[in-house]
Amino acid sequence: MKIIKLETFTNKYVGFVKVTTNTNDFGWGQMSTYNADISALIFHRQVAPWSLGLDLIEEKPNFSDHLQKILEKEHKFPGSYLLRALSGLDTALWDLYGRFHETPVASLIGGSPQKIRAYGSSMRRDITPKDEAERLCKLRDSKGFSAFKFRVGSECGRDLDEWEGRSEEIVKLVSSELGNDVEKLVDGNSCFSPKRAIELGKYLEDQGISHFEEPCPYWEHNQTKEVKEALLLDVAGGEQDCDMSTWKSTIEKQIVNIVQPDIMYMGGLSRTMDVARMAYNESLPCTPHAANLSLVTICTMHFLTAIPNAGKYLELSIEDETYYPWQKNLFLGSPFEVKDGMVEVKDIPGWGVDIDPKWFDNCDYNITELN
Ligand SMILES: [Mg+2]
Repeated sequence: MKIIKLETFTNKYVGFVKVTTNTNDFGWGQMSTYNADISALIFHRQVAPWSLGLDLIEEKPNFSDHLQKILEKEHKFPGSYLLRALSGLDTALWDLYGRFHETPVASLIGGSPQKIRAYGSSMRRDITPKDEAERLCKLRDSKGFSAFKFRVGSECGRDLDEWEGRSEEIVKLVSSELGNDVEKLVDGNSCFSPKRAIELGKYLEDQGISHFEEPCPYWEHNQTKEVKEALLLDVAGGEQDCDMSTWKSTIEKQIVNIVQPDIMYMGGLSRTMDVARMAYNESLPCTPHAANLSLVTICTMHFLTAIPNAGKYLELSIEDETYYPWQKNLFLGSPFEVKDGMVEVKDIPGWGVDIDPKWFDNCDYNITELN
């Protein structure tokens, strides 16, 4: 079967991709969220034209070399936007194969439908320690979460807190309120110098925190490694990294204890599997970054069932459409439903989700097709 049509449906935040073949088979994917309208432009300019007419063998997915060829054809444009657009093609093709073989993507890549443990991931720094502790405890009790991540420092904050004293205060309060039975993770989002990260890190250890994410500017590998080596807790990172040579170096040099590629920043599932494999060879667990309730989290659920070095849990954002209005009406049903702290990869072909028809009412449409 040959690709004859590539369509995008986008707003500023989300961009879905539909791939259709001459046999009328189709799959739905998504480009990375945020500035998705820009990614759609790149999709039709630099991804779709190379993909029209692509022959897909029916027996099994065989398109990963095609993805690499696109990057080689566009080798003057190494970077985030091209990969954000490429994710739309990759994830649509996985869905197409899943629908074609009537099997979930998880099963196509060596995993299976199952329940997986999730950690509740807070995205907010504008929240007081008291309010954060209250809402996390409520979610622990109502949804059964056994792990949470919350935020310290400020984003790329050059050692400054969101407001003075917030980091220590939130760590102390949230830790004691959640208690010893809940695993506690924090995220620094590139805030700290090694000196401050190590100082705060020792405090985190005293307060029972097990995971310190992106303590230092993420591009400063030596700083991150210095922090990792000075602390006993796990230092995690890599969410922005999408270049294979960066990943190779990060993993070979053991910059972090846990690697966190983002499927949508990486250019899709196929390239993220490559990162997981590299990490596996160096005995590092992979706990991908998945920071919103769009297809990135669905893809990550399938991915985690399939890799041998899956980390302990799925990142599951606790921010709904009241905080991110653009998440409204993305999918039918409740694909992110949490019971006893677990989400479920269901035995449904492809990614197992359908976009809510209402979502299409207010989006831009574009098409690249064989004429
Ligand atoms: Mg993070």
